[in-house]
This record gives sequence, C-alpha cells and structure tokens, in this order.
Amino acid sequence: MTNYDLVVIGGGPGGYVAAIRAAQLGLRVACVEKEPVLGGTCLRIGCIPSKALLESSERYFEARHGFAEHGVQLGEVSLDLSAMLARKTRIVDQLTRGIDGLFKKHKIRRYLGRGRLRGSGQIVVDSPQEGPLELAAPHIVLATGSRPAALPGVELDGDRIGTSTEALSYSTVPEHLVVIGGGYIGLELGSVWNRLGAKVTVLEYLDRIFPGTDSEIAREALDIFRRQKIEFRLATRVVSAKADASGCVVECTDSEPVRCDRVLLAVGRTPYTDKLGLETVGIQPDKKGRIPVDPRFLTSAPGVYAIGDVIAGPMLAHKAEEEGVAVAEIIATGAGHVNYDVIPSVIYTEPEIAAVGKTEDQLKDENVPYRKGVFPFRANGRALTLGNVAGRIKVLAHAQTDRVLGVHILGPRAGDLIAEATAAMAFGASSEDIGRACHAHPTLPETLKEAALAVTGRAIHF
Ligand code: FAD
Ligand code: NAD
Repeated sequence: MTNYDLVVIGGGPGGYVAAIRAAQLGLRVACVEKEPVLGGTCLRIGCIPSKALLESSERYFEARHGFAEHGVQLGEVSLDLSAMLARKTRIVDQLTRGIDGLFKKHKIRRYLGRGRLRGSGQIVVDSPQEGPLELAAPHIVLATGSRPAALPGVELDGDRIGTSTEALSYSTVPEHLVVIGGGYIGLELGSVWNRLGAKVTVLEYLDRIFPGTDSEIAREALDIFRRQKIEFRLATRVVSAKADASGCVVECTDSEPVRCDRVLLAVGRTPYTDKLGLETVGIQPDKKGRIPVDPRFLTSAPGVYAIGDVIAGPMLAHKAEEEGVAVAEIIATGAGHVNYDVIPSVIYTEPEIAAVGKTEDQLKDENVPYRKGVFPFRANGRALTLGNVAGRIKVLAHAQTDRVLGVHILGPRAGDLIAEATAAMAFGASSEDIGRACHAHPTLPETLKEAALAVTGRAIHF
C-alpha cells in the first residue's frame, strides 16, 4: 500500500489541473489515468484535435474560396487529408507530453491503469503491467469525465456509424455525412467535413440548434450555416441508424429516411463512472449518472470529492479546470471557489459563437429588467479588413444598476473577444465601465465597447 495526501482518478483537464495545484500547495499527489496518455477527452479526442481540424479545414476552404477577394490568385488547391490528420496528431502528442513534463516538474506520481475505489481512503489501480496496485489517501478526487451519449436504435459500429472520436479521424472525406444532434460537436465537426467537401445533413430533435444558447444568436447562426450549404432538418426525431453493404440509412419520424456514407452521433455526453467502485463508499449517481457533490465538491463519502464532466454543470474543459484548482485549494487550505455565473462558452464554427452570463431568454423568463446594446461586425473597421463581417455582439445589462448580466457574440474571433467580457463581469462591471475603457483601433474588441455604449444608446459607429 502506497500512501499519498491526495489521489486523483482521471488525468483530464479537471484531474491533471487538480493534481498540479495540489502539488503546488505542498501535497504529495498521485494521478491515476487508464489511457496511455494524459490530458483526457480534451487533449486526446476533444477540444484540441477538433480545433486543429477546424483551423486546417478553414484554411483549405479560404484558400479555395476566399483569397481571390484579397487579390491573391492561387493555382489549383488540393487537399492532403493525411497531412492534415498528421498535423492534428502532432499537436495532440506535443500537448499530452507537456502534461507528463508538468507532472515531473511537480513530482506528481502518475499511475497507468484503471482506478477504482475500495472502501474509505483506498484505491486500487488495475495496472496492465504490474497487476493490481493499492494506494491509500485521506483525500480522493474523482475526475473521470464523460463519454458520448448513446441513442436507442443507432447502432454504433466504431466506423461508419460513430461518435466524435471517429469523426476526428475519417481517412477520406465522406460524400454525405449525417450528423445526429445540432449542438457543439454536430456543428463544429459538421463544419470541418462540410469545408472539406462533404455534403452534411444535421438532424436535430428540437426546432432550433444550440439549445441553451441565446435564441436570437442561434437563429442568426443557423441562417449562416445554411448559407454555408449545411442542410438542417429540425424538429426531427431519429428512430434508427444502421450500416449495410451500400452505406448507412438513418430513419426519422416525420421525414424520409436519409441515405449517407457516414453517421456522426452527437446528442450529448454522459458522465463516466464505469467500474469506479462508487458502491464501496456508498456514492449513488443521480438520474443523469452524475456524481452529486456539495458546494465544496465533496460527495456523500467522507474524503471523496468529484469535479469536471462527471458532476453537474456545463461539460467544458475550462469549467473542469476551475473546479480542479478550487478542489485542490479546498483540500489544502480549506478555501476555494468557482464563480459559475461567469463561465464562458465558445463554439468554434465560422463565425465563432461565444457567450458568458445570462441569455436574453433567461432574463425574460426570470423577469429581470434589462437593457440591450447590439453592435454588428459589419460596422467594425477591423472586421471589414479581415473580410469577416457576419454577426453581431450583444451586451445585456441590468436596467436599474447597469451591471452587465450577459454578453453574446456571433462573429470573427468571438472566442477571444469573450475573454474581456468575462473579466469585466468577474469584476462586476457595468456597461458604462466597458464603454469608458479605451480600446485600441482598429480592433475587433472595439465591437464590445460599442455594444456596451449601445446599451444606453451611445454607440458611435452604428
Ligand atoms: P475528461 O477530459 O473526460 O478526462 C477524464 C479522464 O479520466 C479520461 O482521460 C479517462 O480516460 C480517465 N478515466 C475515466 N475513468 C477512469 C478510471 N476509472 N481510472 C483511471 N482513469 C479514468 N470543451 C471545451 O471547453 N472547449 C472545447 O473546445 C471542447 N471541445 C470538445 C470537442 C469534442 C469533440 C469533445 C468530445 C469534447 C469537447 N469539449 C470541449 C469538452 C471537454 O473535452 C470536456 O468538458 C473536458 O475534457 C472534461 O474534463 P474532465 O477532466 O472532467 O474529463
Ligand atoms: P450538445 O448538448 O451540445 O448537443 C446535442 C444536441 O443533440 C442538442 O441540440 C440536442 O437537442 C440534440 N439531440 C438530443 N437528442 C437527440 C435526438 N434523439 N435526435 C436528434 N437530436 C438530438 O452535445 P454534443 O454536441 O454531443 O457535445 C457534448 C458536449 O461536449 C457539449 O455539450 C459541450 O459541453 C462539450 N463540447 C464543447 C465544445 C466547445 O466548448 N467548443 C465542443 C464540443 C463539445
């Protein structure tokens, strides 16, 4: 039995960040990860490889369709998909190796193997090389993440009918890709393959895309994606998806079956607690399979904490990281905190969609009095020079106090622009605060300043 102050199960952004922060605070830390590389879903099969492909596919698309406008004439542009996939793999390798380096730097012991609880304060690691190893710690953090949600009737075959994991590595461009689910993954990976030449059809259960995002922004995004020739069938319930000798067939209620050569199932993710031994310490997951925790991330079992995708809240890497820091600080110092009111979200389509705080729909539902300032990217000089003028930025501020309650962006580099709004909201800024701060010209962040000024009818350039 090897003893530690803290054992973290799961080496994704929640788990590895918790391990590093706890080591910084002087704890003796081990991290158990069942995959050969650290970094979790995010680095291996999520955020990073998808963003690598989004960037490469956008460059391919731009080279084919966007350069002539700038007076840049190219010869025939062709796709080297295997080079594109190899670049993605190199980036993933570099980042996952980087986590190994950080673990060494902070003297965190890494165990390769599936970890499971075995009663209070005890963990067994089923190591492929060394057999079962026994660890003991007064503090255990469960950071085991999530996996793609299944859909009854959709027969995943790990190839033609697959999830995001397969869609990050198709060896050829599908002729026709059917995406089940019009959410983050559906539109990000749908965009990748659409830009590379596939016909993409998105089947979405609801009558809108991106449930939970501001509905006005989601409607405008849908129009843009349709202009990009992504086909949508909304309010469509998928009954089955099967592969046969000639391809795949997806059956839906209220519309004709769709034939295609690949299917991407992206209807959400489910917390991952398989063979984790929760029952040995009396932890009962909720109806959605999440591990219930209190505000200090403590489960019902003394000394056992949980963070990241395996607990409630948005399934986002930076949310998991914030919780990783907070739980380590709570364990080591007694105090740690996550401000859930200002967790940004970004969808890396073209244009990007980013948000922080309340949506306009939420403010209406909650009867919060608000004022709204909107500024379109077409009125911003930098957006014009970039040639990316679609979209808008919207600032929502309390009608009486002027405190910023939400910022929603559809437009170029929205994912970078949201950082200023997030920092402003974290400091409790008013729209006037943002509007009075000097912003460099000509830059995209000027749109945030102008939208903030528009809250009180003072935008200068629109
Ligand atoms: P994970 O990253 O899932 O890590 C959990 C780790 O625990 C895994 O490595 C797993 O192997 C390990 N594990 C599980 N059980 C055990 C066990 N018993 N023993 C040992 N190890 C175990 N989020 C963003 O914020 N931005 C994005 O751009 C983004 N893009 C995404 C794109 C895709 C295609 C996908 C699928 C997800 C994306 N996400 C994105 C979501 C993000 O990946 C997750 O929110 C994040 O990885 C959650 O972190 P985590 O540490 O909670 O879990
Ligand atoms: P999602 O929750 O974003 O979208 C799922 C979509 O599927 C929803 O629109 C939902 O209405 C729809 N749906 C559900 N059941 C359906 C059915 N039977 N038929 C048709 N449509 C159905 O989930 P996702 O796209 O699978 O992504 C999972 C999670 O991963 C996201 O919620 C997000 O937390 C994370 N993620 C984040 C990013 C990012 O931050 N850029 C990127 C990818 C994934």
